[in-house]
Amino acid sequence: MSATETHEFQTEVNQLLKLMIHALYSNKEIFLRELISNASDALDKLRFAAVSDDSLNEGDEKLAITIGFDKEARTVTISDNGIGMTRDEVIANIGTIANSGTKKFLESMTGDQAKDSNLIGQFGVGFYSSFIVADEVTLETRKAGTSEGTRWTSKGEGEYTLEEVSKDDKGTSITLHLKEDMDEFLDRFRLKNIITTYSDHINFPIQMKKTEWDEEAKEDKELDELEQVNKATAIWTQPKSELSDEDYKNFYQTISHDFQEPAAHIHNKVEGTLEYTSLLYLPKKAPFDLYDRDRRYGLKLYVKRVFIMDDAEHLMPTYLRFVRGVIDSADLPLNVSREILQSNKVVDKIRAASVKRVLDHLGKMAKADDSDEYHNFWDEFGQVLKEGLVEDFANKDKIAKLLRFSTTHDDKVEQRIALQDYVDRMSEDQEAIYYIVADTHAAAKGSPHLEMFRKKGIEVLLLSDRIDEWLVSHLNEFEGKQLKSITSADLKEFDEEAEKELSEEDKKQREALTEKVKKALGEELVQDVKVTHRLTDSPACVVNAEGEMSAHMIRMMEQMGQEVPKQKPVLELNPDHALVKKLEAMDNDDTVKEWSLFLLEQAQLAEGHQLEEPAAFIKRMNSLLANVA
Ligand code: ADP
Ligand code: MG
Repeated sequence: MSATETHEFQTEVNQLLKLMIHALYSNKEIFLRELISNASDALDKLRFAAVSDDSLNEGDEKLAITIGFDKEARTVTISDNGIGMTRDEVIANIGTIANSGTKKFLESMTGDQAKDSNLIGQFGVGFYSSFIVADEVTLETRKAGTSEGTRWTSKGEGEYTLEEVSKDDKGTSITLHLKEDMDEFLDRFRLKNIITTYSDHINFPIQMKKTEWDEEAKEDKELDELEQVNKATAIWTQPKSELSDEDYKNFYQTISHDFQEPAAHIHNKVEGTLEYTSLLYLPKKAPFDLYDRDRRYGLKLYVKRVFIMDDAEHLMPTYLRFVRGVIDSADLPLNVSREILQSNKVVDKIRAASVKRVLDHLGKMAKADDSDEYHNFWDEFGQVLKEGLVEDFANKDKIAKLLRFSTTHDDKVEQRIALQDYVDRMSEDQEAIYYIVADTHAAAKGSPHLEMFRKKGIEVLLLSDRIDEWLVSHLNEFEGKQLKSITSADLKEFDEEAEKELSEEDKKQREALTEKVKKALGEELVQDVKVTHRLTDSPACVVNAEGEMSAHMIRMMEQMGQEVPKQKPVLELNPDHALVKKLEAMDNDDTVKEWSLFLLEQAQLAEGHQLEEPAAFIKRMNSLLANVA
């Protein structure tokens, strides 16, 4: 036997432990859920490994989790006869934090204990939750198929000790020495209650010692016999008719580590050429790391009830990464690997059917009269769903129907209008679905480009999500109607109509105006100058020439640090505006230039551009104002 060795915790672990010990009191019973979840993982791993090497069972095939407590010693013990850990694995898994998530965890603490303790599970730092209730934790473990056992102990204060021990049973046993004020957990009823609340559908029996009334001592006496506390049935294998919402909720909370109830569950048993069961959940709230590239996501994959892997991302496309749940297939081999999943016909079919179920369910939710539920879903996951339009070509139409937008129909409510609503409201002769993309909702709805559309009563989609520019570049049409940007120069349908009403005299006058301004600004600054019919209140606007990138797109690319070739805008002037009329009447070249620049710059500002020389703009404006005053 080797002597006891002392090791220091990684800095992050220490930070985390401090949190556990001092901050996370309100949901302290989650420690049991976390330790049971780890035990269940260890049993899953053993069962899987034993498929190819039966000796790992060590003659003990009844996999179970055992919970006990000792009132005198003030301890609670959680044991499993699962895979166990080697000494090196103990050091690697308990004492360091392998994933970068912990830092983010620490950063995302809100100070609201209920919320914060909810985050523990999501970050995969479950083991340390022991220190919410314990002032000392002892872990004894022996890896299945090896002989050396390891004891790990810690008071959760900066260091832990390791020593070699002999351990008869494979697996791990964790003993929590409870803090002074944690006596409530030295109670059979309380422990049982936590187990059935959080861990009823853990796929292995969770057992406790049976008790019997002792007449002499006038109290319950523990027997050596064990009884099973949880249901331990793989919930997805049970018929829907036998499951309550409560059952579905509990299972969701077990697999997702989410404290809320799910927004919906979708449970299907498929028999025929393929045989599998899927139980999928839509969460109510987006996880904090929905956009984190490192985040593992996906479904749990089982093969004939044997757990194969977590986060099987091939079972759900990226844009549905928020879906949680289980797929249990009867057609895949037990030794299926992530690589095989990538190019497997069975997986492809299961995935396609699962995606369809999720989208159909969302479709139903969206159609329901009481659509608060869908609004909530959209606010949480709408941005992610938009990715699907590009990622999942086969389901493009279905996804397009699920999208919700802000529009000028009612620009006070954000992202509630379906494309179908828009199309239903279109007049017979409206050619396209019009949209504008800007950095913010306020910028979109305040854009001068909207003036004509508002006047004519034509609805315009107001887009301002980061992903929207990309979205419209992939969504060319909906229900046979083309999508068209109102800031593109290509809006001939309106210009032609207005042209017709002009007299020859008007036309000449306009030509003179545009020539004058074009000459004043020069080819360096603008591609062209035109008279527009699209403005009513503003003197000028800029549009991008056909085939060129939109202003919003350019800004996004610049923000991403990409070089964007300089594009010259087309300046459009509103001939009916007082400022433009004044300009028209001027003949001093210098003044014409100043005014032209001023109109160009304000039009660029209105589009959210950064001016190259803001100080020069201010100076120009001030001198113009001084002349007025
Ligand atoms: P997570 O379960 O999210 O990985 P935890 O903090 O709960 O994070 O556990 C850390 C790691 O410690 C686990 O991934 C596992 O490798 C190991 N571990 C914890 N409990 C056990 C156990 N009962 N048996 C075997 N390994 C365990
Ligand atoms: Mg865990």
